[in-house]
Amino acid sequence: MRKISEYMYGNRAFQQSYVKTNNQKLESLAKSGQSPHALFIGCVDSRVLPNLITDTGPGDMLVLRNVGNFVPHNEERSQETSVASALEFAVRILGVKEVIVCGHTQCGAIYTIYSDLDKDAFPHLASWLKQGEKLRARMGETGGRFESKEMLLRKAEQVSVQLQLENLLTYPFIKEAVENRTLSLHGWIYDIETGTISSYDEESDSFHSIDEVIPGGEK
Ligand SMILES: [Zn+2]
Repeated sequence: MRKISEYMYGNRAFQQSYVKTNNQKLESLAKSGQSPHALFIGCVDSRVLPNLITDTGPGDMLVLRNVGNFVPHNEERSQETSVASALEFAVRILGVKEVIVCGHTQCGAIYTIYSDLDKDAFPHLASWLKQGEKLRARMGETGGRFESKEMLLRKAEQVSVQLQLENLLTYPFIKEAVENRTLSLHGWIYDIETGTISSYDEESDSFHSIDEVIPGGEK
């Protein structure tokens, strides 16, 4: 693990390199404010770095991260307003054009949903991960049989992203923007080992490598 002083040295290096070469862009962002194109909803996992994996920088996209990249269902979220407020800010105030829900392989949240979490020892995690009950139910409905727990978890990571996309549409302003075609929703899975992204295709109800989706195709 890195020591805190190394992070501080890291910021110094950042100032001497990135800030020096991008000072005009940063100045303009400070003066004119932000106008990001997308909202990226990702997991807190330290191996998933939204800007690094999309080669984006300051001002390019809003980032919201939580345990498991969950979007609580609008009518079931109780007092939880962290995600809802970010959605309102992104879509209604900044007018982002895309919302990306990005899950990832080897996700600890999904793993925990399929494990026996000590609810007394971890009350907050247990409360947040209650959202996983729907995931387990949906996985049960698909009736899929898996050769190993690993394979089950990889599938659950994908199904969870699909559920979060469905939950996004429970927010009236999101549903309206999607219907008006001013907003697009995307479901991704980031592979932490290969650095590749797969994107959910509603028509075929499956995930495809973005190499098949992006203009120009192959790398
Ligand atoms: Zn995760």
